[in-house]
Amino acid sequence: MKAAKIYGPKDIRVENVDIPQLEAGTVKIKVEYAGICGSDMHEYLAGTYPIRTQPVLGHEFSGTVIEVAPDVHTIKIGDRVAVEPLIPCGKCDNCRRGFVNLCISRQGYGYTKSGGFAEYMVASEENVFLLPDHMSLELGAIVEPTAVAVHAVRQSQLNVGDSTAIFGAGPIGLLLLQAVKAAGASRIYVIEVSEERRQKALELGATTVINPMEVDAAQLILDETNGGVDVAFDAAGVQATFHSGVRSVRPNGEFKIVSVWEKPVTFDPNTIVRTEAKISGSYAYVRLFPEVIRLLASGVIDGNAVITSIIPLDDIVEKGFEVLTKDRKQCKILVKPNQG
Ligand SMILES: [Zn+2]
Ligand SMILES: [Zn+2]
Repeated sequence: MKAAKIYGPKDIRVENVDIPQLEAGTVKIKVEYAGICGSDMHEYLAGTYPIRTQPVLGHEFSGTVIEVAPDVHTIKIGDRVAVEPLIPCGKCDNCRRGFVNLCISRQGYGYTKSGGFAEYMVASEENVFLLPDHMSLELGAIVEPTAVAVHAVRQSQLNVGDSTAIFGAGPIGLLLLQAVKAAGASRIYVIEVSEERRQKALELGATTVINPMEVDAAQLILDETNGGVDVAFDAAGVQATFHSGVRSVRPNGEFKIVSVWEKPVTFDPNTIVRTEAKISGSYAYVRLFPEVIRLLASGVIDGNAVITSIIPLDDIVEKGFEVLTKDRKQCKILVKPNQG
């Protein structure tokens, strides 16, 4: 089968590889759609993560089940599914406390096991989630990034009626925007340099969009909210948004970081000493696929709004990774490994 393998920075190749073998407790999936993630982009631009032990990328995908091991009983051939990539060990202290996303020896499809940028993949039964009949397979590939956004909102101190700011309106930012709206945020600022993305944010329910190249976003938010938003989220991962994000929260507010960073940042800790604001992180999700599938299937979160193009696997570098480095109009690009 064909699969996209990463060899290093700026080096992803589509090659012929063996189809992964079905093992006890697993199902074989024909991959239908697989999204290019911001974290894939970081590996493409800055080099692979230490967790990576095999080269086939892709951790946001949907597919159709074509084969099941004899001991699998909850999934059958023909099922339309989304795959949760996280494989916790189940034995470490974090797993036993229920924080499977923080497992110290976690594995993952697209990292330690062959992922979704391939014609076929094999996943454990417990990582496979059924899509309702009326939910598209395209939306099935949006479940994973939506789970990241929903988890971040659930982890935050946001409450119904609160004000919020979202820095960055890429796929995660636009999904965060819809998740905070669903959670009852009364005021949603979105800070984004791209005109197209600001427009999309307005369509999806942002109450104010700010171009940080023209306006001091934090100052505007402080002025309009009488001291800052309750919770700000970072989905951009650069020095400028970190600085603005920390400044934009109210005393006792929270700055929640969802993005992956390529470089360290500097900041003045007095900013939070004097406000007792919190800076916190959010990583992946904890068993959220069923909830997120319902949010997407019902349209509470519009996953289609973040999809901007669908490309064949052969074009994954030129029309996928390369386009995402320069075209801010693009948001989520889905790869379709099997044509027809
Ligand atoms: Zn991702
Ligand atoms: Zn563990």
